[in-house]
Amino acid sequence: LLILVDHPSPLDGSLDAFDDDLPHDIQVDRLMRRVRFCVARRSSLRQLHQEREDLLEQTITDFKTGLYNARYFEERKEEEVSRAKRQGIALGILMIDLDKFKNINDEHDHHFGDYVLRRFSETLCAHLRNFDLPSRFGGDEFAVLLPNADLEQAMVIAERLRTAVAQMVLENNGKRVGLTVSIGVSSWHPDDDQDFEWRLLGADQALLRAKKTGRNQVHSFDPERNDEPEAAR
Ligand code: GH3
Ligand code: MG
Repeated sequence: LLILVDHPSPLDGSLDAFDDDLPHDIQVDRLMRRVRFCVARRSSLRQLHQEREDLLEQTITDFKTGLYNARYFEERKEEEVSRAKRQGIALGILMIDLDKFKNINDEHDHHFGDYVLRRFSETLCAHLRNFDLPSRFGGDEFAVLLPNADLEQAMVIAERLRTAVAQMVLENNGKRVGLTVSIGVSSWHPDDDQDFEWRLLGADQALLRAKKTGRNQVHSFDPERNDEPEAAR
C-alpha cells in the first residue's frame, strides 16, 4: 500500500505504523526499487509464516493418518477438561482399537495395512463433529475427545462409527477385506465424584471388555456397576 500525501505533518504520530517514508521529490527509478524491495520482503515474510504454520501442524499430526498425535491429545485433554469445568459441560471419550489388525498385515502387507489405517481415519472423521479431537495413540489404537457429549451421545457416535467401519468396502488385488473395530466409551462431567483420568481409564476398560466379549462391539464404562478402571491397565 503506497500512500502519497502533499505534506506529511497530518501523519505525525502515526508514522510508526508505516514501513517506510520517502521524500516527495524521489526519482521514479529509486521509488520503483524501494517498492520492489518492500514487495519482495513481504513475500518472504509470508513464506516464512507459512513454513512456520506447516511445521507447527507437523508437530501435532500423526503423519500416517493425518489425525492428531498422542502428544497433542495429552495437551488438548488438559485444555478440554478446564473448558468443561468452566462451562459445566460433559466430555465424552472413545477408545478405539482395530480388530485383528495384525492378521490384515500378515495376510496382505504393511503397505495395505497403512492404507487401511488411512481409510479407517477418514471414516472416523466423517462421523465426528468438527470440534471433536480424533487422535492416533499409536499402532491400531485411537482415542477421541468429544466436547459436550454425555455418555448417551458418545454411545450414539460410537455405534454409528462401528457400523460404518463394518460396512467399509476394502479390497486388495480384487479380494474383499473386512474390517471391524471395538470401542470403549466413557464420559466425564465436572460434577462427577471422580476425575477425568478415572473416566479415561474406564473407557480403556470398556474397550477391553468389548475385545473379550467378541470384538466389533461398543461397550460403555458404567461406574454404577462398580467397574474398577485400574484393573484395565
Ligand atoms: P486385537 O483385535 O486384539 O486388537 O488384535 P490385533 O491383531 O489388532 O492386535 P495387536 O495389538 O496384536 O496388533 C496390532 C498390529 O498393528 C500389530 C502391528 O503389526 C500393526 N501395526 C502397528 N502399527 C502399524 C502401522 O503403522 N502400520 C501397519 N500397517 N501396521 C501397524
Ligand atoms: Mg487391534
